[in-house]
Amino acid sequence: RFITFEGGEGAGKSTQVKRLAERLRRSGLTVVVTREPGGSAGAEVVRHVILSGAAEALGPEAEAMLFAAARADHVDETIRPALEAGQWVISDRFADSTRVYQGVTGRVPAALIDELERVALDGVAPDLTILLDLPAEVGLKRAAVRRGSADADRFEKEDVAMHAARRDAFLAIARSEPRRFAVVDASHDPDMVAEDVWHAVSARLGL
Ligand code: C5P
Repeated sequence: RFITFEGGEGAGKSTQVKRLAERLRRSGLTVVVTREPGGSAGAEVVRHVILSGAAEALGPEAEAMLFAAARADHVDETIRPALEAGQWVISDRFADSTRVYQGVTGRVPAALIDELERVALDGVAPDLTILLDLPAEVGLKRAAVRRGSADADRFEKEDVAMHAARRDAFLAIARSEPRRFAVVDASHDPDMVAEDVWHAVSARLGL
């Protein structure tokens, strides 16, 4: 089974990925935890290029191709082999992040995003995507606190608008694929969110 977590910054994805993996392992399953960008040796190289800022010289289309290249390697080297071995895979971000970050807020045309997704995934698709949803200001504040920002309550208007646009875009994808998505309110405390995630996983995937 393949589960992906999506959502904006500060949604608590990495915490919830870890908690779900622990709980699945306690029920005797073998779980591979991975993340994007990255998740395989080749894709981690691309991650480094992207997050170092070295890719800022690229236009949005080229950047989207870089994410797709990383994803293709991640699928080929990590995700597909694990699924074929009967293991569970949980990924912190996957293709929906590209639809939102590169497609919607990065303005790369949907036709290119779709084509890159088709090539990179090559038939592999999440069985369940957990969207950790929360208001833009809440996510921005959590991300600022994590960075150790001196004034975590003050945001640029543009940042709030961008964050809100991404939230709307994730929710729109979730509405268009209700069978794949479970939307979880990520504004509660981590224990409660973990409980909601567990309910979604056990109900949808029949545990
Ligand atoms: O998962 P995390 O929130 O740590 O993501 C790292 C950063 O990578 C995000 O803040 C986002 O700006 C960026 N990203 C992106 N496009 C993706 C995935 C992540 O721009 N498809």
